[in-house]
Amino acid sequence: MTKNSMKTVLVTGAGGFIGNHMVQFLKKKGYWVRGVDLNEPEYQKSIADEFEILDLRRWGNCLQATRNIDQVYHFAADMGGMGFISSHDAQILHNNNLIDTHMLEASRLNKVKRFFYSSSACVYPEFKQTNENVIALKESDAYPADPQDGYGWQKLTTEKLCEYYYKDYGLETRVARFHNIYGTYGTYEGGREKVPAAMCRKIAQAKNNEVIKMWGDGKQTRSFCYIDDCVMGVYKLMNSRIRIPINIGRDDLISINDLAKLIMKIADKKLLIEHISGPEGVRGRNSDNTLCKKSLKWEPEITMREGLLKTYKWINQRIK
Ligand code: NAD
Repeated sequence: MTKNSMKTVLVTGAGGFIGNHMVQFLKKKGYWVRGVDLNEPEYQKSIADEFEILDLRRWGNCLQATRNIDQVYHFAADMGGMGFISSHDAQILHNNNLIDTHMLEASRLNKVKRFFYSSSACVYPEFKQTNENVIALKESDAYPADPQDGYGWQKLTTEKLCEYYYKDYGLETRVARFHNIYGTYGTYEGGREKVPAAMCRKIAQAKNNEVIKMWGDGKQTRSFCYIDDCVMGVYKLMNSRIRIPINIGRDDLISINDLAKLIMKIADKKLLIEHISGPEGVRGRNSDNTLCKKSLKWEPEITMREGLLKTYKWINQRIK
């Protein structure tokens, strides 16, 4: 098959965790894929047909990235775990606003047919997440708005921009709100890693009966979604008629203490936890999957145990 006879797809953030997995998924489906990022993937070579190193904060680079493209899967963002997000508000808001506004406008001018945007559960109001036994968040809970940090405000703004680009210009936009995506080939060290990867690393590095550190009392709760479910959900959403933001996450809540215990069980290690002060984010957060199940006839299927087993094995291997 030649490039002209295949659907051409751009994946931004293709050097990052979700973007790199998305490239692999789309290649298996037979698409011609251009990957764009500031960096190539850290842990394996990209299998994109074309990979361009471009800074998408720059307008000309967004025009270049979207040339001759049918569909855009937009994952590029300046982001990281709680420690990074809670301490870089201005940088995140500035950089991601530039990336998102230029990417949408360049897609419109280059006549892209469909645009996927990766939003976040951080758009939900902090006042609905003050208790660890949180009621799962449904999409309409995002308003009245009181998102978490500059990161959440920025995601909410681009969600609106996607809505208006459809309303004013007819650009078909699809928006997912991800709830804590984790898995293999994701950042696990360096300050931008998220909780599951950080816990896997700490547990892999520790010897039996040693102490590992955890931010907060560990009673804060979250749900975690494995990367294979995430890319499947994104693909289903992209090929659906759903133009409103939709949760992609699991709806089984776990405390960070229980998450650590589950990983210790997988690792077959007994470790002590020292609770230290640090950025914890909201007290509790869960995904209400009613809309996802109804509109996509699907919801994430991979259990925490299955997903963590794969993630731990991968991180453990790398640390060895
Ligand atoms: P990631 O950090 O692994 O990937 C993001 C990629 O964007 C990185 O490779 C980075 O180099 C690239 N990037 C940053 N600035 C850029 C620029 N100026 N030009 C070009 N590329 C640039 O993050 P991820 O976990 O793969 O997240 C992908 C998307 O999903 C992001 O938009 C993120 O906000 C969103 N999201 C992720 C999660 C999660 O749990 N992983 C949760 C909610 C939302």
